[in-house]
Amino acid sequence: MSKKTTVILGAGFSKNSGVPVQTEFSNYLVESYAIGDFDKAVSKIIKRYIKNVFGYSKGNAYPQLDDILTSIDIAINSGHNLGAGYSYTHLELIRKVIVYRIISILEGFYRYSRHAAKFVRVLLRDYPEVDFVVLNWDTVLEKNIYEMEEPIGIDYVNGGEEIKGLGNSLKISKVVKVLKVHGSCNWMYCNNCRVLINDLKSSISPLKRTGFTRMDILLLKDLEGVDINYDNIENKKCFRCGNVLSSHIATQSYRNSFKVNSFSNIWAEAEKSLSLSDKWIFVGYSLPQNDYEFKHLLKIAELKLSHKKKTKLNIDVVLLNSDSTAVRYKSFFGDKINMVCNEGIEEYLNYL
Ligand SMILES: [Zn+2]
Repeated sequence: MSKKTTVILGAGFSKNSGVPVQTEFSNYLVESYAIGDFDKAVSKIIKRYIKNVFGYSKGNAYPQLDDILTSIDIAINSGHNLGAGYSYTHLELIRKVIVYRIISILEGFYRYSRHAAKFVRVLLRDYPEVDFVVLNWDTVLEKNIYEMEEPIGIDYVNGGEEIKGLGNSLKISKVVKVLKVHGSCNWMYCNNCRVLINDLKSSISPLKRTGFTRMDILLLKDLEGVDINYDNIENKKCFRCGNVLSSHIATQSYRNSFKVNSFSNIWAEAEKSLSLSDKWIFVGYSLPQNDYEFKHLLKIAELKLSHKKKTKLNIDVVLLNSDSTAVRYKSFFGDKINMVCNEGIEEYLNYL
C-alpha cells in the first residue's frame, strides 16, 4: 500500500451527490430554481444580464458559467464596463447575485450518496496518509468527512479562521488536508482586515454568506416591491472589525487578483502534497485542455522529486463512461497510469 496518497476531486465526484456540473449550471442560474419572490427577482436579474451581454434568448444555448464569471471578474479587476449598461460597480453587484445563486445551488442540490461516503470513509480509515486536492466550490467532501463516526478535523491550509461556538467540542482524532484550489462556497472574506473565515459545517445560509448590503438591495431595481426580511440577508460580520464578509470563490482570472493571497498558499500546499505522494487518485476530473495552470502544477509535482523516489508514481483515474478523457490521461501521464476505472466510484470501490 502507498505511504501517502493525494486524491484529486473534480466535478464528477460531486455529481454523485446531486450537485450539477458546470455545463448544467447556467440552466439553473435562470430557470425554475427559484422558490420565493427574492429568488425569482434574482433569476430575472441574471436572465436579463445574460440576454444583454451574451445575447441569450429562450430556446438557445446558455453561456458557460466560466465565461459569465470570468468576463465579469476581468472587467472588475481592470475597472472596465461591459458595454454602456454595466459599469464595473454594477458588475460587482451582478457578481454577488450570481454567486448567491451558485451557493444556493451548490448547497441546495446536495444529497447523501452511499458510494461517495464509502469512498471517503475507506480512504480516511484504511490509508495511512491522505490529502485531498479539490477543484470544486461545493462542500460535498466536507459533508462526507463529517458523516464519519470518527471525528475528523479539516484543514483548508488557507490561513483562515474557523467560526467558533458551533459545538465542535468533540475530540478530533485526526486532521485531513482539504486543498481547494478554486476556493470554496463556505469561505468568507473580510475586505477590510483581510481575514478569511471558514464556515466548516456550512452553518450560515447562502444569502448571509454572499455579503449583500442594504445599499446593494436598494440598487437592485428588480427587488422593488419584494418583501425583504433584512435579518435573513444581512450577513455575517467580521469578528475582528465588524465589516461585512463576502464569499470567496474564484475564477481563473480572480485567482490572480491582489485580494486573494491565500490562493497562492493553497496552490503551493497542493504542489507539496502531490509531489510527496506515491499515489494519486483522480475522481471525476476531466483534465480539460484549457486547465493549463492546474495541469502544469500536476506536471511539476509529478516530476520534481521523481529522480529521488524509490517507487514510481502510481495514478488511478476514476471516470464515468468517458473514453476520450481516459485517452487524455494516458497521453498526459503515460506509464504512470496504473488504472482507469471508467465505471464510476461504485466500481472503483472494489479496488480500494
Ligand atoms: Zn474584518
